[in-house]
Amino acid sequence: MTARVHRSAWPSGIARAAYEYTCDIVRTEYPKSGRFFHMASEILAEAEQDITAARLLTWEAAWKADAGQENAKEAAMCKAYAGQMALDVCSKCLELLGPIGLDGHIVEKLYRDVKVFDIFEGTNEVQHLVTARRQYAPYGVRV
Ligand SMILES: Cc1cc2nc3c(=O)[nH]c(=O)nc-3n(C[C@H](O)[C@H](O)[C@H](O)COP(=O)(O)OP(=O)(O)OC[C@H]3O[C@@H](n4cnc5c(N)ncnc54)[C@H](O)[C@@H]3O)c2cc1C
Repeated sequence: MTARVHRSAWPSGIARAAYEYTCDIVRTEYPKSGRFFHMASEILAEAEQDITAARLLTWEAAWKADAGQENAKEAAMCKAYAGQMALDVCSKCLELLGPIGLDGHIVEKLYRDVKVFDIFEGTNEVQHLVTARRQYAPYGVRV
């Protein structure tokens, strides 16, 4: 199950790029105090946490593949998580940038690019189905 791991690493990188571009702009273009800065800091802290979680899920699935171990559940989990995470992070980054994010900014492009990751190589619903099947299999229950 390496394709799903790849489709998890890819949006994780896109989310990280959107996050880093947004951090740079928030640090340089916006005031360093006040309500906006606190709100932006909270959103960016959550983004970093979610990107890190996606990366760790991806690494676990990749490590299992490299070790020749069964990784269907881990691949499904990282693919579902990273695709949705990247969509959310890019959307929040675009909102934070306000007018700067429009008019051909790279974060706008990343936002448009990232939508497909919750569809191709199996939609999120299908990844959840794969995960549920692996969860219930030891109990002889078919999902
Ligand atoms: C831009 C793009 C590029 C693509 N590239 C490729 C490619 O390179 N190679 C390739 O093979 N395919 C590719 N696809 C196809 C893609 O993998 C499928 O569109 C995707 O898997 C959904 O399948 P479907 O379109 O048949 O929709 P359906 O399977 O009909 O699903 C429609 C909706 O129902 C949901 N659903 C379906 N079954 C269940 C279920 N059992 N439980 C709960 N919900 C369910 C799905 O999650 C989805 O929301 C691409 C699609 C897009 C949009």
